Amino acid sequence: MTAEFPGGDPLVERMRPFGTTIFATMSALAVKTGAVNLGQGFPDTDGPAEMLDAAAAALRGGFNQYPPGPGLPVLREAVAAHQRRFWGLEYDPDGEVVVTAGATEAIAAAILALCEPGDEVVCFEPYYDSYAASIALARATRRPVTLRPGPDGRYAFDPDQLRAAFGPRTRLVLLNSPHNPTGKVFTRAELQLVADLCQEYGAYAVTDEVYEHLVFDDAGSPHVPLATLPGMRERTLRISSAGKTFSCTGWKVGWASGPAALVSAVLRVKQFLTFVNAGPLQPAVAVALNLPDTYFTGFTTGLQSQRDQLRAGLADAGFTVMQAEGTYFITTDIRPLGGTDGIEFCLALPERSGVVAIPSQVFYDDKDAGRHLIRFAFCKRPEVLTEAITRLNP
Ligand SMILES: *Cc1c(COP(=O)(O)O)cnc(C)c1O
Repeated sequence: MTAEFPGGDPLVERMRPFGTTIFATMSALAVKTGAVNLGQGFPDTDGPAEMLDAAAAALRGGFNQYPPGPGLPVLREAVAAHQRRFWGLEYDPDGEVVVTAGATEAIAAAILALCEPGDEVVCFEPYYDSYAASIALARATRRPVTLRPGPDGRYAFDPDQLRAAFGPRTRLVLLNSPHNPTGKVFTRAELQLVADLCQEYGAYAVTDEVYEHLVFDDAGSPHVPLATLPGMRERTLRISSAGKTFSCTGWKVGWASGPAALVSAVLRVKQFLTFVNAGPLQPAVAVALNLPDTYFTGFTTGLQSQRDQLRAGLADAGFTVMQAEGTYFITTDIRPLGGTDGIEFCLALPERSGVVAIPSQVFYDDKDAGRHLIRFAFCKRPEVLTEAITRLNP
């Protein structure tokens, strides 16, 4: 006897709300219309030459087999040294650092490792698109807190909404600063509020700091890792990756640092997701993390001038432009241009102006909060930005 083939959509129910990502849709539209793609946030130049040379040498130098589960020691040491140099944070490379397949795997493994079904995850919307999916995979529940632009163009949240999002089932808060897609850099006072609530409710913090080196000099605050606040190191898992800082988003080399119990929990899950990845790229990322300060300041200055260029062009085109304090992104209000719905606006923009942007509302649960906002990436060569600006200002 054969059981009947079940038929229908084989996808588990909890993943059905997650369709094709907006990036696939918009990138396909960019190709079809020949538009300048300022949608997806990846750079169009390669990272530092020293890093690329080290990767090429490693490929020829016997680094092509499985690295150790927690990552190559040389990379774990570089991750620890980098955090000591820039943020004064001390982590033992042997037990308090784990290398992952990008920040994305670290986030997924952290949520899967720490959340029981029904646990709640507090996160700020709009959020990076993998957060909701990872929370759903763990059968946990997201408790969004909404970021809205104020009259000064800076995004902020209502402290009462943050407080109300915490409760007896809160397991962790997932915090991304500098924040994609808003370009917000959380201030010390805002972080203190998050820290106080974590301590009051016995919650962990998982921080996504992939833009740690992209805070511009006119930001309202420098980058403050949440783990540096009193009482937070012991409950925070700090995540970052090479992709954004070293312009190598295709490498997918990330890491998580924190107290040994949290890192070990992540490792227990991670070993059955990918086990390990990017063997020959790991020593190259170690070289990059150890580059002198001038690399990091030059990187920030370069991106800031690209931001300034696009910001001016978007303002000339008539958008209301929000503060972009950090990251690769700038968001704008489309209402001065007669737009009301960002999805409609972004679907029409390639035909209308030959440029692709991303509607912010896809990153919100509260669609009304993001309906009039769209996001442009400025991590592109100046001549590409010039072309986009020319098209937006016919
Ligand atoms: C790009 C990005 C990531 C993904 O990083 P990978 O190292 O490529 O996995 C995670 N979080 C945010 C906010 C990002 O913008």
